[in-house]
Amino acid sequence: MNNRIYNIAIVGFGGMGGYHCQLIEPVSQISVIGVYDTVEYRMELGKEAGYKTYASLDAVLTDELVDIVLIATPNDVHKDIAIQALRAGKHVICEKPVTITSRDFNDIVEVANQEKRVFTVHQNRRWDEDFRTAKDIIEKKTLGELFHLESRVQGANGIPGDWRQLKDYGGGMLLDWGVHLLDQLLQITDSQIESVAANLSYILGTEVDDGFTSYITFKDGLTALIEVGTTNYVKLPRWYLKGTEGTAVIRDWDLSGEIITRNPDVAHIEPKPIQAGQGLTKTMAPPSEQSTLKFAIQKPDLEEQSFYENFVSVLEGKSEIAIKNDEVHRVLVLIETIFEAAETKSVIHRSI
Ligand code: NAD
Repeated sequence: MNNRIYNIAIVGFGGMGGYHCQLIEPVSQISVIGVYDTVEYRMELGKEAGYKTYASLDAVLTDELVDIVLIATPNDVHKDIAIQALRAGKHVICEKPVTITSRDFNDIVEVANQEKRVFTVHQNRRWDEDFRTAKDIIEKKTLGELFHLESRVQGANGIPGDWRQLKDYGGGMLLDWGVHLLDQLLQITDSQIESVAANLSYILGTEVDDGFTSYITFKDGLTALIEVGTTNYVKLPRWYLKGTEGTAVIRDWDLSGEIITRNPDVAHIEPKPIQAGQGLTKTMAPPSEQSTLKFAIQKPDLEEQSFYENFVSVLEGKSEIAIKNDEVHRVLVLIETIFEAAETKSVIHRSI
């Protein structure tokens, strides 16, 4: 058994930098060796937590004990720090969104390839239970062939009052939550994107989008509605999945929701008309209980490496990297296309 310990230094010890310590803790082969932040108070927190603090980024990069640099700074400086760290011979994990543009991301990957170092992005929401459950329902064809999905996150607290409200720092909700939902979407189908329509919202009057809605069509016929909102006092469900044989709703991260499918053993029974407002309707009546099956949402039984277990395994040549650079690149191209569709108020027909 290999007992090598890999030392990681955290650059940017704010909310997410601190959270990475919790993610790393259960992984015996990675140890947080120290932290660096441009704000003194953050360094004090690092010291209090028992970590070594570095006086500068250079001090991190010249420390031969550092094997991996984790970048958890605001988005605008990810690229520069990543390239410097790779040039110094470090492996690099970068928070999402990795860069503001796909071109900047290509520049990082080029350096990683030249330096033969591992570079990856912390797209942690690929491990989220709600996403894994939705993917499992789709892959098992519980709903028959999926033809439409809706994936949303909605809050009523606006954009957090920090750099996320500022364009220069790579703020805005498309880059913030959007990158997660779009990354998840592209894991659900192998099909190429055919068209993208989008609207960004500026309800809060900040210089960056406080949410967006995007309608994306795929070459295999799948359609997707992806939505992020920060002014939603009443939330719509996290996932809504429609297939040829049934529908699933996953209301929240707690996996509340249900699946209703056609009962293959019972011939279709005409629903009884219901009173709807000032009229009667059979079309919009619920399907008869005898001709449908109802299931609770069940989380899939998946034993998989965590993000950090996978990273160690990749360093030791035992696993493929979980978050692949070409996948990250595709998501950035999709984000750029959403910005373009929203700015030009047009449907962009593009193979992505
Ligand atoms: P934050 O503001 O809480 O922390 C950022 C820290 O970086 C601050 O302490 C700041 O002083 C420091 N910093 C700024 N410039 C620096 C520099 N040049 N060198 C060193 N330190 C610097 O922000 P956050 O919420 O922790 O977000 C950090 C990153 O993590 C962002 O890219 C964000 O999108 C990402 N993030 C990811 C998730 C996720 O679920 N994957 C969740 C939250 C944030």
